[in-house]
Amino acid sequence: MGSLQIIADGKLPNYKDEVLALQTGCSIKVTGLLAASPGKGQRVELQADEVTVVGWADPAVYPLQKKRHSFEFLRTIAHLRPRTNTFGAVARVRSAMSYAIHTFFQERGFIYIHTPIITGSDCEGAGEMFRVTKFNLDQIPQKDGHADFTQDFFGGPASLTVSGQLEAEIYAHAMGDVYTFGPTFRAEDSNTSRHLAEFWMVEPEMAFCDLQCNAELAVQLLKYVFAHVLENCEEDMKFFNRFIDSTVVDTLEKLVSQDFEYLTYTEGIEILLKAKEKFEFPVNWGCDLQSEHERYLCEKVFHKPLILVDYPKEIKAFYMKLNEDGKTVRAMDVLVPKIGEIIGGSQREDDHDTLVERITEMNLNPEDYWWYLELRKFGSTPHSGFGLGFERLIQFVTGLANIRDVIPFPRTPGNVSF
Ligand code: ATP
Ligand code: MN
Repeated sequence: MGSLQIIADGKLPNYKDEVLALQTGCSIKVTGLLAASPGKGQRVELQADEVTVVGWADPAVYPLQKKRHSFEFLRTIAHLRPRTNTFGAVARVRSAMSYAIHTFFQERGFIYIHTPIITGSDCEGAGEMFRVTKFNLDQIPQKDGHADFTQDFFGGPASLTVSGQLEAEIYAHAMGDVYTFGPTFRAEDSNTSRHLAEFWMVEPEMAFCDLQCNAELAVQLLKYVFAHVLENCEEDMKFFNRFIDSTVVDTLEKLVSQDFEYLTYTEGIEILLKAKEKFEFPVNWGCDLQSEHERYLCEKVFHKPLILVDYPKEIKAFYMKLNEDGKTVRAMDVLVPKIGEIIGGSQREDDHDTLVERITEMNLNPEDYWWYLELRKFGSTPHSGFGLGFERLIQFVTGLANIRDVIPFPRTPGNVSF
C-alpha cells in the first residue's frame, strides 16, 4: 500500500516525448534502483533507468483528477473509483476483515457452510424478498387469477435469500459449530445510509449454545476483527483517521480491551422514556427500536457498544426462543455508536410444540416449515446464532458514513447500473 516516488532523469531517451507527458491515470512500467530518499515524506524512492508507458490516459477526458472528488460523484464512476486513495483503502480493509472473519471461525473449529442463494422458503422472517423466475414477465401463466408457479423453472415460487440461518441450523445439528459468510438480498425500499439491496452477512450457528454463549461469541468476533485491522492495516487506518473520521483508531483500540454493556430491552425502554431528547419516533414498551433510539443509548448514555437482549416477541421473528415470561424472546441485537444495529441474533426455539404455536401465531403455515420442525423432533438442542452485517461493520471500522462506499458495487433502490 502507499505510493512510490519515481525519479526520472532528463537523460532518459523518452523523457521529453513520453515521461513529461505522463498524467494521472496512465499505467507505466519502471525499472531502476530503489534507494533511500533524501526528500521529505517518503523513506525510499525509485531512481528510474527505464520508463515504459503501457497505457495512456487522456487528461482532457479522464474523470479522476488529483483533487478530492465527492463520494456522490465517485459513485457514478464505480469503474474508476477504486483507483482513489479512499476506495483503495476500503478495498484493502474489506479484504483484511474477510480474512479475519474466516480465520476467527476456522481457528475455533467452525465449519464454513455454503448456504443457498436461491431459496424456496417464501418467508424466512426477515425483510422483503426478490423473486427469482424464468417466466416471460409479459406473459405470466395464470391459474385462478394468480401466477401459476408450478409452470416456473423450479415448479414453485423461488426467491433470493435474505439469510442463511435456517439452513445453517440444519448443519449445526449435524456438525456442531458452523458459519456462513455470503451475499444476502433484501428488497426493502429503505433508502438509508445503512441499507443495501445486496449485502454480505456473517452468520454463525452453534448447537449446545444459549443466548449468553451467543453474545460472548459476538463480542469475541468483533474484538478479533478490530485487533486484526489495527495490526494489519495500520496505514489505511491512519488514512481513515485523518481524512474520514478522527475517532476511528481510538475507538477500535478501546473496544479491543473494553467490556461491552449488556442491557435488556425493557431496561433500554425505561432509559429512553426518561430521556430529555426529542425523538422522531415515539417510544413505548413493545415498539421496535429505531436507529435514533439505538444510537442515543450507545452515544449519549453508555458511550460504547451495547448488547440488548429479551425483546418483545411481537417484533421479532417466529424462531426466537420464548422466555418464561411468555412475552419476550431470547433475542440479542448488538448496537454501536453512529450506526445502531450491526448484529441481530437469538437463541432459537428448540421446543417443537412451542415453535408450531409461534409459527401459527405469526400467521405462517407450519407445513411450509416441516423440515425446520423436524430438527426439533430429532435430537433437538438449545442452539443460537446471529447475523452480522459485513458492510455495517466496515462502516464502523472505517468511519465512512454511507454504506454505498464500503462495497465495490452498491445495489440500492433505483441503482444497479454498475
Ligand atoms: P435493520 O433493522 O437495521 O434494517 P434488520 O433487523 O432488518 O436490520 P437482521 O434481519 O437482524 O436486520 O439482519 C442481521 C444484520 O444484517 C443486521 O444487524 C445488519 O447488520 C445487517 N443488515 C440487515 N439489513 C441490511 C441491509 N439492507 N443492508 C445492509 N446490512 C443489513
Ligand atoms: Mn435485526
